[in-house]
Amino acid sequence: MFRIGIGHDTHRLAESRPLILGGVTIPFDFGSDGHSDGDALTHAITDAILGALSEGDLGVHFPDSDSQWKDADSLELLSRVVWLAHERGFAVENVDANVMLERPKLRPHIELMRENLAKALNVEVGCVSVKAKTGEGMDAVGNGQAVSAQAVVLLRKN
Ligand SMILES: [Zn+2]
Repeated sequence: MFRIGIGHDTHRLAESRPLILGGVTIPFDFGSDGHSDGDALTHAITDAILGALSEGDLGVHFPDSDSQWKDADSLELLSRVVWLAHERGFAVENVDANVMLERPKLRPHIELMRENLAKALNVEVGCVSVKAKTGEGMDAVGNGQAVSAQAVVLLRKN
C-alpha cells in the first residue's frame, strides 16, 4: 500500500539571514526570512510527508507561536515527521523536489542536499531527487525576492 503527498513552500529573501536549503548553508548576501532556519526545500518535503499521512502541515506540528521552533534545524523537524510516518507504519519510498532560486547557482550544492535529506528521510541517496530551477527573471523568485520549493513524496506501508 502506498500514499502520495505534495508539498510547497516559499520564503522571502532578506539581508543578514542565512540561506539554508536541504540543510546546506549556501554563501550569499541574502537568506530565507521567517520561521525556523527558513529551509524551504526541507519544509516542502516535510509538508509532503504530512500530506501523504493526512496529518495537516508543518505549522500544525511546529507552530510559529512556539518559541521552541524559532531558528529550529529543519532537518531535525523532517526527522521527527519521518518518525511520525514510521509510527503510522510507513516508510519513505522516494522524493522528488524542485527548488526555485534566481541566484546563486545551486548545482554545486545539490549532492550534499541529497545526502542530508536522505539521512533525515532514512533512505538511500538514490531515492532523493533535487532539481534546481530559476524564475527566468520573472515573478518573486525571478526578481530575487523569494526562494520556493515543491516536493512530491511516496510512502510505502511497512
Ligand atoms: Zn518554510
